[in-house]
Amino acid sequence: MAVFVLDRSGKALMPCSEKRARILLERGRARVHRIMPFVIRLIDRHVADCELQPLRVKLDPGSKTTGMTLVRDSETITQATGEIQREAAVLNLFELLHRGKQISETLTYRAALRRSRRNRKTRYRQPRFLNRRKPEGWLAPSLIHRVMTTMAWVRRLRRWAPVTVISQELVKFDMQAIECPGIAGVEYQQGTLAGYEAREYLLEKWGRECCYCSAKGTPLNIEHIVPRAKGGTNRVSNLAIACIPCNTKKGVRSIEDFLAHDPKRLARIKAQLKAPLKDASAVNSTRWRLYKELKATDLPVEVGTGGRTKWNRHALGIPKTHALDAACVGQVNSISDWHKPTLNIKATGRGSYQRTRLNASGGIRGYLTRQKRIKGFTTGDLVIAIVPSGKKAGVHVGRVAVRAKGTFNIQQSAGGVVQGISHKHCRIVQRGDGFGYAWSVAIPAGKENVPVSSLNLPLRSRAQATSQSCN
Ligand SMILES: [Zn+2]
Repeated sequence: MAVFVLDRSGKALMPCSEKRARILLERGRARVHRIMPFVIRLIDRHVADCELQPLRVKLDPGSKTTGMTLVRDSETITQATGEIQREAAVLNLFELLHRGKQISETLTYRAALRRSRRNRKTRYRQPRFLNRRKPEGWLAPSLIHRVMTTMAWVRRLRRWAPVTVISQELVKFDMQAIECPGIAGVEYQQGTLAGYEAREYLLEKWGRECCYCSAKGTPLNIEHIVPRAKGGTNRVSNLAIACIPCNTKKGVRSIEDFLAHDPKRLARIKAQLKAPLKDASAVNSTRWRLYKELKATDLPVEVGTGGRTKWNRHALGIPKTHALDAACVGQVNSISDWHKPTLNIKATGRGSYQRTRLNASGGIRGYLTRQKRIKGFTTGDLVIAIVPSGKKAGVHVGRVAVRAKGTFNIQQSAGGVVQGISHKHCRIVQRGDGFGYAWSVAIPAGKENVPVSSLNLPLRSRAQATSQSCN
């Protein structure tokens, strides 16, 4: 994981390695600016004296998790072909965990309370929420939250590193490339990017099964409904997916002849040929909104397709995680230094305005304190607690949940919750900023092809991560 570096006036410099950051701090040339993620500030340098290289933020927006990767870009031109080869050296991997579901649940809860109050307390009052018009481009709070938190992190990364360009995965398939009829048969295998995208698109459209016999889990070929020999084109409206036996059996026969015994299937295939894949053409409103917001920054924005991301990932032999998917977005010919831990950033919110806790039937269960700060701590602060003796003796690092009495709970990113820690033992590491942080360890070398979920990689707490990186 690269360490972010600022100059003495707080302007972003090139990120450095952890080792270099440690040396700079030991020699007194730098101060710690921020802990999570780690940012240092040089006290003897100015941005004008430093050489900056192009950095790229790559984004793979998802519904629950957005992958974010900061890479150092370099381009070489192949002398023979004149092609531009783009190389990306990974500096940082992030995964941003959204809280869309929580937001939607709390808003539903609030609406229910208001509805019941209106029914209980008052004369007839018109519902207020049905006669409002939503402005154009309105997105539900749970969706706009994804855009807002992602933009917040893009702004943060720009503050800490000299970012010059942004890449974003915008759509699932490049419809233009797929509809382009100039692709030869061989390229539908994994030859070219356009061929790969067309193949993936067709697999998805036809449900990854043979259109003639519904066979699954066997090698599937691209099937020309009107055979090439009879003038059939490469357009998507002439292509389907078939297993190898069916593909060979049909040969150059027409589909009407081949499926004469099964008119139902014939009609279904004909209808499906014309229908576009709903998911691929449907506009993903959140991604487009994010694209708009990214374009509103003064940086150039490259867009990629999901098909291209997957193609890059396969071609470069990189495992599938959200953060590494982000590294594969857009045009990239090689990716280096990706064996790195990922910083998991969880959107936690900043607590609730409601100060009364209710039980399931709406009765009062208890009250929260009026003030949110207790003994100088607020729920969400990152604290370190050094407990000298007793049952809870030891060092606990994590997100604090404050209690009015001054005994707090500490949510450790790895080791669960420690309850009842006195504020006297706690020290603030970093003020709460609406996010919780945890490290997931790097994917070990040689395990690239194992599904990440089966590797069972543990989350490390900050204390462990720091002690390991210091050794
Ligand atoms: Zn078949």
